[in-house]
Amino acid sequence: MPDRADNFPYRLLVVDDDASTRLVLRRVLAKHGYEVIEAANGQEAIEQTLALRPDLVLMDVMMPILDGFSACAQIRLEDGDESLPIIMLTGADDLESIMLTGADDLESIESAFNAGATDFITKPINWTLLTQRVRYALRSGQLNREVRRSRLREASVRRIAGLGYWQWNLDTDQISWTDELAGLDGLLPDKTSPLVRFLDRIHDDDRRRLQVALERARDMGARLDHECRILVGDREFVIRLVGERGTQSEDIHQLYGVFQDVTETRRTQAMVDYLALHDELTGLGNRRLFMRQLAESLALRPRSTSGVLLVGVLDVSRFGRFNDIMGQTGADRLLTMISQRLTDHLNVQTGGLGRIGGDEFAFFLWLDDEEDAPRRFQSLFHSLTLPYKCDGQDVFVSFSGGYSVFPRDGQDAEALLAKSQAAQRLARKQGRGFLPAETDEQTTRRQSLESELERDLYTALVNREFFLLYQPQMAFNQGKISGVEALIRWNHPRLGVLSPMLFVGLLEETGLINDVGAWVIQEACRQAAIWHQQGMDLRVGVNLSPRQFLQDDLFDTVEQAARAAEVPPSLIELEITESLAMQDVDHTVKLLQRFRLAGFKIAVDDFGIGHSSLEYLLRFPIDVIKIDRAFVMDITSRVGDRAIVRAITVLAQALGMMVIAEGVETQRQSDFLEAIGVTEIQGYLIGKPMSAADIEAMIHTARQSTRH
Ligand code: C2E
Ligand code: MG
Ligand code: MG
Repeated sequence: MPDRADNFPYRLLVVDDDASTRLVLRRVLAKHGYEVIEAANGQEAIEQTLALRPDLVLMDVMMPILDGFSACAQIRLEDGDESLPIIMLTGADDLESIMLTGADDLESIESAFNAGATDFITKPINWTLLTQRVRYALRSGQLNREVRRSRLREASVRRIAGLGYWQWNLDTDQISWTDELAGLDGLLPDKTSPLVRFLDRIHDDDRRRLQVALERARDMGARLDHECRILVGDREFVIRLVGERGTQSEDIHQLYGVFQDVTETRRTQAMVDYLALHDELTGLGNRRLFMRQLAESLALRPRSTSGVLLVGVLDVSRFGRFNDIMGQTGADRLLTMISQRLTDHLNVQTGGLGRIGGDEFAFFLWLDDEEDAPRRFQSLFHSLTLPYKCDGQDVFVSFSGGYSVFPRDGQDAEALLAKSQAAQRLARKQGRGFLPAETDEQTTRRQSLESELERDLYTALVNREFFLLYQPQMAFNQGKISGVEALIRWNHPRLGVLSPMLFVGLLEETGLINDVGAWVIQEACRQAAIWHQQGMDLRVGVNLSPRQFLQDDLFDTVEQAARAAEVPPSLIELEITESLAMQDVDHTVKLLQRFRLAGFKIAVDDFGIGHSSLEYLLRFPIDVIKIDRAFVMDITSRVGDRAIVRAITVLAQALGMMVIAEGVETQRQSDFLEAIGVTEIQGYLIGKPMSAADIEAMIHTARQSTRH
């Protein structure tokens, strides 16, 4: 039994105005297992076809109301199912009659054939032939339907996948597209265009690559799988082209395949990449991106340039306390402001900037000259430490930094960053602001020295290896020594006398600073008392380290030392650094007020290199500002430094503070400072740090020379 694939019998529509013909046809066909439905004219045939969807139509030509050809044409028009077989049953004279009655010419009959009939059987009907033809037509109809269905399915799959079909004809060099399927309507104004026209629409940066890929696919049979940007109207899309050269018959001259609009995917991908590589808070690149950019910048460096690359790292000092004081949101905002300031300050297309850790930033920058590196870093560092406005308040942030220079300190991104970070850690440890990278040799030497020093430091105090030197300070208006600064020295059993630069950091780290610091205070008080008893009222400056300053019993230690030595507190001047004072403003203000109340003097040491905010000075009870050596050094040659010193001096005078300039080495510097209004100076010009006895001798000599 002839069944359809779904096991229903085939349904045949028999169309004839002659009822007896219909009856015979029905009988014969039913005998072969077909389901038969009937129509008496062309009009009915159309209706039945659309309503009952027969698998085949057997249609008489000459019928009233609507003839078979017209009905056939109409069915084709309305049904759209080209695979429905329509077999015309034509009498020998039918064609002739149509020509006469329809006043149509042969041409129009032919077009009627073209419009739809699948086959013709002439009457009188040969029944064997009929059933064969029917079976054959059904089979080919079935096949056609399958092909058509799969083609439709393919098209919708392409549409769903956003795939378009493209084809490049190698003979004509024309390229054609079905862009509407890929949602890229209007990709090409014409569906076919010469390849060059098409390439014109590809993004400048992608064009050459695509052309090469197409040519390779053409010439070497390589599979094409390529992504490029393309302009459609004024929008840019990213398309992916996949294809290969045909291998059979005519296809050999074709390169064809599908293309896909991947704009969204790429955009999402770009977003994912962006998020993976950027820090959400500041929008800066994260460590991964920074490293990538740094590596790229190194790789892209033209061989010819003699430039050097500065790689810097900046770390916010004690960032945790901002979280405590300002809350998480406030601290976040602070980080954003810091990153903004860095961005503004760097302002370079050729460089890079990233947030490589919670409170750690890194940047790189090409410079013409290695010599520029320290100055460039210094100026960035300086601008970062200016106060930040948070909720109308000035917030002071201190940093530690380190930098390395390519090619001197390393060849690749990792090595350079590692060196900068090591330098930064060292700077933090030594409380030195920022430092350049060390050479490997320096590091080894320093580390072995440090471990030796650390080991020996524990016994240094009991072994009485520490001693104090005193550096004189001179007041311009009196022309005599008005005070001294006590500076610690360590007489190491093997290495001899060591500078505090080498061990104060270690004292801090090990916590020994508290005991050693207390000893310094006692020793300084003892010496001040001796001078006091001798009638020399010398102010004695004592340096306090950050850790010491945060110690709860600092006040008691100082106060008891002064009392035990029987020295008036006004002769003891406590030197604190700006960054130290800023760490916890409330604590600082309270503590300083206590000292003030007890009669001690307060000096701000190394002024200018830390936060340089004059404003905040108003909040602290301060007696003396010690201008850092860095500003004094170039005071004769640099207008900027002179302006800073001048500004500090004017303000200090207005507030009734004294100004001591540190590190004065030449008479010329001294003259400038005096002219600017600085009240006292300290430095090698007056005297290096020396023993108490030498101080006394110096004062005696000075007295004698004034007497004469
Ligand atoms: P500081 O408090 O800024 O002391 C001034 C430093 O500058 C001293 O170095 C001094 O010798 C040096 N100096 C003074 N005049 C000149 C000059 O004209 N030219 C040059 N090139 N240098 C000059 P020193 O003695 O090596 O001390 C270094 C630092 O160690 C001090 O800087 C201070 O921060 C710290 N320090 C010294 N003694 C103590 C102490 O007892 N306790 C603590 N916590 N720190 C100390
Ligand atoms: Mg000092
Ligand atoms: Mg100083």
